[in-house]
Amino acid sequence: MADTAIRAARPGSRIRRPKQYARGRVCAQEGCDIVVSRYNRADTCFKHRPVVYPRIRGTFTEEFATAE
Ligand SMILES: [Zn+2]
Repeated sequence: MADTAIRAARPGSRIRRPKQYARGRVCAQEGCDIVVSRYNRADTCFKHRPVVYPRIRGTFTEEFATAE
């Protein structure tokens, strides 16, 4: 059976099987019946997932700017 998921392997790293969650899960958002991917550890579909922006650490200092 063909799998529609896009697969990619990082060069130099060993192939690891992604953790799988129960299949057939439905988005936790009320009224949404989108089936959540088995590889998605969130309880909601991508549309109802809370957006999390990564925090950028550190400050841009003069030392940083001039460092080689
Ligand atoms: Zn949803």
